[in-house]
Amino acid sequence: MSGSLGVAVVTGASSGIGAATARRLASDGFEVVLGARRQDRLGTLASAIGARWSTLDVADPQSVTRFCDKLEACRVLVNNAGGALGLDRISEASEDDWMAMYQVNVLGSLRMTRTLLGRLEDSGNGHVVTIGSIAGYEPYVGGAGYNAAKFAERAMTKVLRLELLGRPVRVTEIDPGLVETEFSTVRFRGDTDRAAAVYQGVTPLSADDVADCVSFAVTRPPHVNIDTLVVLARDQAGAATVHRS
Ligand code: NAP
Repeated sequence: MSGSLGVAVVTGASSGIGAATARRLASDGFEVVLGARRQDRLGTLASAIGARWSTLDVADPQSVTRFCDKLEACRVLVNNAGGALGLDRISEASEDDWMAMYQVNVLGSLRMTRTLLGRLEDSGNGHVVTIGSIAGYEPYVGGAGYNAAKFAERAMTKVLRLELLGRPVRVTEIDPGLVETEFSTVRFRGDTDRAAAVYQGVTPLSADDVADCVSFAVTRPPHVNIDTLVVLARDQAGAATVHRS
């Protein structure tokens, strides 16, 4: 199948959940458009799955405008670009890290949604899917900056759902727990040992598990809105409640 389900834009498609979602939506029959900052990775993935790609930095309003100007239509927007920086207690918190997390997770999703909303509505069956987190529900020690960003992203998603009531655009938030991606390596600034310890003794979710949830949400009939989907590994019962063998 190719292109029959319309254009699906995936932000943060160069890695992890975004890359898996792009692969899955392409095989579902969407015409996928990839966005992220790392061009080499986007090019490789785009060739492999028959997608289009364009450089995108969701923290930069001009980059968002340039990216979106190339899209004549949009049926699905997956606001996936995001992540955490650091695990500092509030007493040690870095304002730069907080700003960066807010820029990407919250303002990045806002910019993409606001810019593409008209095209999503014009499709007659638009859908905004945002990748939130269990961190948007449950605070944990050292998580304040990321918690604040993901709580805010969830609030925005809920407001969007209210504001779009009666219009042909669905709004879904998918909130995973531990997913083994580059997330922890980025959070710990390239410290791969520290990142690996996050997943030690646990069978975490894979990026494909989350892509499966996105695919489920966007392939329901148009009158069915999956509002929120919290998905955790069996070994995880809360943001910081993890069983390790
Ligand atoms: P990942 O492997 O680190 O992927 C993050 C993606 O976001 C990368 O493709 C990165 O691409 C992109 N990105 C970062 N900053 C960006 C920017 N300014 N503009 C455009 N793209 C940007 O991590 P992941 O786990 O797949 O994370 C995806 C989403 O899932 C995030 O929103 C994260 O908060 C959420 N999440 C992850 C977990 C987990 O345990 N892994 C759990 C719950 C929720 P470039 O660097 O190439 O730009």
